[in-house]
This record gives sequence, structure tokens and C-alpha cells, in this order.
Amino acid sequence: MSNNLILICYIIAAVLFILSLGGLSNQESARRGNWFGIIGMLLALIAVSASETVTAYGILAVSIFPAVLIGGVLAARVKMTEMPQLVAILHSFVGAAAVLVGLSLHLDKSAVHHEGIAGVIHNIEIYVGVCIGSITFTGSIVAFGKLQGLISGTPLLLPARHLLNLIVLTATVWLGVEFVSHNVIADPTTSLLVAMVITGVLGVHLVMAIGGADMPVVVSMLNSYSGWAAAAAGFMLGNNLLLIVGALVGSSGLILSLFMCRGMNRSLISVILGGFGTGDSGGGGTMQTPEGDITSIEADATTQLLKAAKSVIIVPGYGMAVAQAQHTVAKITKKLRENNTNVLFAIHPVAGRLPGHMNVLLAEANIPYDIVLELDEINHTFGATDVVMVIGANDIVNPSALDDPNSPIAGMPVLEVWNAKNVIVMKRSMGTGYAGVGNPLFFNENTSMLFGDAGENVDAILASL
Ligand code: NDP
Repeated sequence: MSNNLILICYIIAAVLFILSLGGLSNQESARRGNWFGIIGMLLALIAVSASETVTAYGILAVSIFPAVLIGGVLAARVKMTEMPQLVAILHSFVGAAAVLVGLSLHLDKSAVHHEGIAGVIHNIEIYVGVCIGSITFTGSIVAFGKLQGLISGTPLLLPARHLLNLIVLTATVWLGVEFVSHNVIADPTTSLLVAMVITGVLGVHLVMAIGGADMPVVVSMLNSYSGWAAAAAGFMLGNNLLLIVGALVGSSGLILSLFMCRGMNRSLISVILGGFGTGDSGGGGTMQTPEGDITSIEADATTQLLKAAKSVIIVPGYGMAVAQAQHTVAKITKKLRENNTNVLFAIHPVAGRLPGHMNVLLAEANIPYDIVLELDEINHTFGATDVVMVIGANDIVNPSALDDPNSPIAGMPVLEVWNAKNVIVMKRSMGTGYAGVGNPLFFNENTSMLFGDAGENVDAILASL
């Protein structure tokens, strides 16, 4: 393929990626956005493979086909509830790729040798690429471990950890200067390898220090890091398309992180440094343990309440995803609306385990978009609502976020469901949610607990409706 044709393919692919991001920002256009992304990526792969820099087609085929097969099977098999882990591990691959590209470019003696300022810039690209890649790689693996439950969600708070981070950052900058100038360390490979190891340790430390409730921001931050790692690889390889894609992913991941932080009333820096609400940055006291009597309810009695209600708000959470209850919930919604009941859905920005997790589930079940409202839009309406049905949600409806300054989720805006006349909470036990915090909502007089698998309970409600 001629260079001009490749350039045209790159431009078309870049436009498709921008359209893809635009499409993904809205539920109604998300499918179209996905297709733009898929076509753009296919075009990019074909153009790169057909360029004159690629000659080893045998190696390319041997590496691409098994990867396509493994990726395809994994993506087809993964459950919706395991998506965050898959995303986290995929981010780690981007980080590893940036590290490997940087190391191989540095070690490849046959590569074009850059002189003078061009050489310095090339070395800086390699160094930055390896460091960002290394943080992304190890940070994403720890995030995977936390989301998969292999590593505890409790933040690891080493003494003087901020100082430790500062020392590692300073050492990384110093090693970078050494890598380029060789003043003290004569062998640049040593500087690069040491920097790779210490930034890898930094990645582990930064994510280990983050508490359960702040994980959504970490997932989107690692998404952003993986974009910057790809952009760095684009710089190193002199590939403009990879650079554009990396910058798009990096900046959109950053914007998403800022949105998530706003949703959780956190500053980005406090989340990245970790330990929020854990004693050294929280209220300084002991977290309250909710206790009291609870009221249980059965599915039939819940149906009676729903039938009598004029207004119902459904709050979906992670448990609805686990129980895959969204399709039955859609049928219940239809029946209630046929009965002239006003039904709305309340979506918290960090509900579930992925940004937009609940929106995806509700869209899959064809719930009309106009009855799905965000926290800011719906929080003031709970007071005038007859019945709120909380389906497998916990942290996002926890009043201790507002009442208890020592709670790990203190300050996080929550759905104020307790203001409604009746609150039904569907879950299997009195167990805590992802943040590991007890929930006083369950002990309120107007709260009734409908214990059991949410899937079975919504089936029973639908049957009796
Ligand atoms: P939570 O994790 O707080 O609570 C989910 C509840 O669902 C649990 O208490 C569990 O209780 C219940 N549950 C689980 N399975 C079932 C089932 N089959 N049937 C009925 N109930 C079930 O979820 P929320 O959505 O309320 O909050 C999300 C939390 O996850 C927040 O802390 C958020 O910070 C964090 N997070 C969010 C991410 C995101 O991007 N959205 C990413 C990573 C973390 P029981 O065991 O008693 O049934």
C-alpha cells in the first residue's frame, strides 16, 4: 500500500475513533459508536499491516491469530459482572506493550540512530513510555486482583506512604536525567531497568492504597493511563494513529475519572493517593456500627404495596447485575405503568462495578431512557414517592455517607431513598456492599427487607402482579 493511501486510512480511522467516542457518550448512540470503533480499528490494522515497515507476516500471523481467538472467547464468555476485571486486565496489556516497545527500541542496535536533540527526544519518549507503561501494568494487575476478590479491598496504608511516593517520583525523574545524560550511571540500560522496576512498585502501591468505594475512579484512571501508555508507544514508533488513539483514550479516561470523582464528591488527587476516609484523612474517629430491629417482607406483600402505589422508584445496584434480574424488572415496570403507576429508575454514578453499568443493563432490557434518571435529577423526588424498590444496591443508598464523618464513604452523594414512604430492600443477607460498610437504612422503620436472590424475588413479584 502506498504511503499516501496509508495516510488516508489513518485519517479515516482517526475520525471513526472520534465518532466512536462521541457515540459512546449516549445510550441511544452507543451501539453505533461501538461499530465506528470496530471499523476504525480494523482499518488501522489493515493499513499498518500493509505498510512497508511490516514484512514479517509469518510472525504477525502467529501472534495475532491466537490472540484474536483467546480475546474473542474470553469476551464472549465473560459475565457482565466480571467486565471490570476484564477491562482492568486489558489495561495491563497496554501497559506491558508500552514497556516492551520501549525496551526493544532501546536495546535494538539495528534501529535508526538519532543524533543530537532528536536523540534526546527519542530517549525521553522511550523513558516516559516505559515508566507510564510500567505503572499501568502493575496498577492494573492489582486492580484486577481487587475486583476479582483475590486481593482485599481494604486500603494498604504504609507509614509515610506519601513520602515514599514522593521519593519514588524524585528517583524516577533523576533516573530519567541519567538515562539521557549518563552523568553518574554510565549504562543507560541500568537507569531504564531500575526506573521500570520502581515505577512498577509505585503502580502497585498507588492502587493498593485505594479503598473499595474509590475503585471506580481507579478503573477509569487506569483506563486513562493505558491511553497515555499507548500514546507514548505511538511517539516511540513514530506512528501517528497510535498517538491519536492513545491521546483520545487518555483524555477521555481522565474526563471520566473527573466525572466519577464529582459523583463521589472526591478530589482526583485524594483518590489517587488513597486512604480517603480511613482515619488519616477522614473524620478521625470510629465508624458507627448500625444496629436495631429489622422488618422483613415477603414478595406477595411487596406486590400489594406496588399495586397500591401511585409512584415507584426502582434503584438498581450490583446485586441486580449478579441476579440478572433486569429483564423481569422491565416486565414489572411495564405492568405497573399499564396500571397508571408512575415508575422511575434512579441511577447512581458508581452503581455496579463499571461506569455506566446500570445504564447498560437497563438498556439491554429495553427500559425506556426517559424514565431512567441520574442522582441529581431524582434525589429531590424520593420524599413524594410511595414505594422505592432497592434491587441489590447497598453503598449507593447508605445514609452513613451523609451522617457519619468516619465512614469510608463519608461525603459521597447517595440516593436518599429513606425519604420515601416505603422502602423495600432486596438482598440475600445483612452483608455489606463493596465498600464493606454497615448500612443504617436497613434498620429504618419505613424500610422492609425482602431477603433472597433478587432474580427469584422479582420473578415472584411479577407472577403475583
Ligand atoms: P454494593 O456492592 O454496595 O452492594 C451490592 C449488594 O448486592 C450487596 O450488599 C449484596 O448483598 C447484594 N447482592 C449481591 N448479589 C445479589 C443477588 N443475587 N441478589 C440480591 N442481592 C444481591 O453495590 P452498589 O451498586 O450499591 O454500589 C457499588 C459499589 O461498588 C460502590 O461502593 C462503588 O464505589 C463500588 N465500585 C463501583 C465501580 C463502578 O465503576 N461502578 C467499580 C468498582 C467498585 P447480599 O450479599 O446480602 O446479597
